[in-house]
Amino acid sequence: MRPFTYDQLPGRVVFGAGTLACLPDEVVRLGAERAIVLSTPEQTAVAQNVARHLGARSAGIFPKAVMHVPIETAREARAEARRLNADCAIAVGGGSTTGLGKAIALDSGLPIIAVPTTYAGSEMTPIWGLTEGGLKKTGRDPRVLPRTVIYDPTLTLSLPAALSATSGMNAIAHCVEALYAVDANPIVSMWAAEGIRALAAALPAIMARPDDLAARSDALYGAWLAGASLGAVSMALHHKLCHTLGGTFNLPHAETHTIVLPHATAYNRDAAPEAMARIAHALGADDAALGLHALAQRLGAPTALRTLGVQEADLDRAADIASREPYPNPRPIDRAAIRALLQDAWSGAPPS
Ligand code: NAD
Repeated sequence: MRPFTYDQLPGRVVFGAGTLACLPDEVVRLGAERAIVLSTPEQTAVAQNVARHLGARSAGIFPKAVMHVPIETAREARAEARRLNADCAIAVGGGSTTGLGKAIALDSGLPIIAVPTTYAGSEMTPIWGLTEGGLKKTGRDPRVLPRTVIYDPTLTLSLPAALSATSGMNAIAHCVEALYAVDANPIVSMWAAEGIRALAAALPAIMARPDDLAARSDALYGAWLAGASLGAVSMALHHKLCHTLGGTFNLPHAETHTIVLPHATAYNRDAAPEAMARIAHALGADDAALGLHALAQRLGAPTALRTLGVQEADLDRAADIASREPYPNPRPIDRAAIRALLQDAWSGAPPS
């Protein structure tokens, strides 16, 4: 056993079909009386439903969350929370909505209750992100970690099959990198391996029947473990590449993760054999990278960056940015090897 440090993040999790009904009690538990409910414009009806559930404890809704938390949206949401005299924020939605809640908390310390409806996992992390002038800044602050997370799988039944597949692969990516993290520890590694197992089993069932509540519950359970792993240990090459590609070329978050993951895993194959064995075992595959590629194919998820509109001519720039600053990764960052990885991810070739 290698030496390790384990630092438990605080947070309360309420899990199960129908647990949205617990929301008013959870607001009371925080000692709050006036909750602002956040959502994307597409999920306004869900936010209105949540506000109805809350009755007098709803101060109002702010259904304007968008991808990457633009600073203008964050400022408007903060002003609305102040105007409504809110003492709590409820983020109902995916990573974009949770991110908006975090932007409010970062400024005001308002407690957040997260009600995730995708598998992105932001609700379990103290990581915030804000985009200003086309640049996304991220940081860690314990104030933005949601105090309570309500995982109600019935809210994920409406997540379209294609988005379920990519969002699920995004969650698996957190688990993969947690297993070879520089600060990995045995507890988080157990979460991560179990997260991969649960998601890899549930996602194909969801593709076959998006209204399969048992499969939806298993996937959300896996997403919880994935988010907890992301919040607990450091991510490496894969997350760095996705951040670079997403930020530089404005690519969709979950799709980018889905495409890059098998290739980033192959890059680290020989440098992290123990992690690779656990990933492969959790997938029921012989090889971690090939198993992830096969899973993405089985889910009908995208496997080539060119289908997202990335130009081949841009790959040099992406390789430059991703190898510019050093960061911990099992295999040292080598610009030529990163460029080759990007070529495979761009064309959709199997990981080499
Ligand atoms: P998202 O939140 O942008 O949601 C994508 C779309 O799906 C939105 O239109 C949303 O309204 C819709 N949607 C969500 N749930 C739905 C449901 N159940 N039914 C129908 N439609 C639904 O996407 P995401 O992938 O969840 O989040 C991506 C963002 O989260 C990125 O900006 C990423 O950087 C951030 N993120 C942050 C962290 C962190 O720790 N800070 C972790 C993961 C992701």
